[in-house]
Amino acid sequence: MDRFHAYVDANEDRFLAQLKNLCSQPSVAAQKLGLTETADMVLEMLQAIGADARLIQVAGAPPVVYGEMGSGDRTLVVYDHYDVQPPEPLDQWESEPFSPEIRQGFLYGRGVSDNKGDLVSRLQAIEAYQATVGELPLKVKFFFEGEEEIGSPHLAQFVAENGELLLGADGLLWEGAAKDMCGRPALYLGLKGIQYLELRVKGASRDIHSSWAPLIPNPVWRLVWALNTLKDERDRITVDGLMDHVAEPPMEEMELLKKIPFEEEQIRKDFGIPQFLGGAEGIDAVKRLLYAPTCTICGIWAGYTGEGSKTVLPSEAMVKLDFRLVPDLEPELVLDLLRKHLDRRGFEDVDIVPMSGEHPAQSSPDAPVARAAVEAAKLVYGRDPVVYPLMAGSGPMYELSQALGIPAVSGVGVGHAKSRIHAPNENIRLSDYIQAIKYMGEFMRLFAASD
Ligand SMILES: [Zn+2]
Repeated sequence: MDRFHAYVDANEDRFLAQLKNLCSQPSVAAQKLGLTETADMVLEMLQAIGADARLIQVAGAPPVVYGEMGSGDRTLVVYDHYDVQPPEPLDQWESEPFSPEIRQGFLYGRGVSDNKGDLVSRLQAIEAYQATVGELPLKVKFFFEGEEEIGSPHLAQFVAENGELLLGADGLLWEGAAKDMCGRPALYLGLKGIQYLELRVKGASRDIHSSWAPLIPNPVWRLVWALNTLKDERDRITVDGLMDHVAEPPMEEMELLKKIPFEEEQIRKDFGIPQFLGGAEGIDAVKRLLYAPTCTICGIWAGYTGEGSKTVLPSEAMVKLDFRLVPDLEPELVLDLLRKHLDRRGFEDVDIVPMSGEHPAQSSPDAPVARAAVEAAKLVYGRDPVVYPLMAGSGPMYELSQALGIPAVSGVGVGHAKSRIHAPNENIRLSDYIQAIKYMGEFMRLFAASD
């Protein structure tokens, strides 16, 4: 692999120019901006490295860019997305979001980290491998979608209509994880699911004078009483039956948790709180962060909240809630449990309006794809990666992983702890980018040879 590594170093400028080129093309899913143009560019990049590639369409969605190449006993699915978050607020960028710029060893621009950087670095690793080692030692199937940043609303449909393309694959490489604050490479084996929803209550047919309060029900109180049954004052979720679906992490995952660095003092200071909920500390705090389901009031709206007083009896009230879901807690199950919980307490008048839902996903640290990801990190970064058995956040991993029976791992990505993804001045370190290309080469080699 020495020639492979040397080739990557020798082509640094050209590789960065390719990434800058793709990041110069806006592809904002939330604004339906530039998605087909970007899909075409990604398609060309796949064809340029020799993949048999095409666009897959589903009505109402930007195309999935799909490609296949290589041969061997092992088949790897590579998932990335070519869409990005909106660049706003524009005045906080130090350079134009869609005119990527290198400054002092960093590349700035929307998408350089999330997720065009991962996507392009993986293709460049394949180019470098073929130019130096030879034919790919495994079969690779690329699955690049264009609406991850708006919650992948058509991914399940893409998989339902085209899943046979991926069936039988041995591993799935997900979007890369970022290096942590101390520069340690990280990777993760799963993501929490999520069910986002609104609770809505209606009272009178219109807002009325509050003198009617002795006779007319107040939907805001109804909502408050309903919410009050979802959690207790110790912040425990009290939705009937929900916690019955939450298991303790198995031993092997507890071992991984012990190795996760968690700068709790710094985090508390940064967030301006004296202590975590329930006084959680150390491994207990890490375990809660990754393995506890949540029920979060994200926003609440009702009545008059302007300046001064207004004696009004509001006619409606609404709250937005998100439930983060650990393995075995599926979105549909949470909706069902919540409905029954509310009905049992006489809250039939509280409407549940389901919004986006994503299943939790988790793979075993013993899966060959996970072991190859860890070994490749040791080789390229010279240290053990931090392995997260589960992440506190959510994503659509389930649709390509559990739903198809393919174990997944994130791999190490191009980002770092201050890459500012989704925010102004998104950036990557140039040296991290080059390492990520090398990482992909070693990972493919090790995964192809795994048993
Ligand atoms: Zn993102």
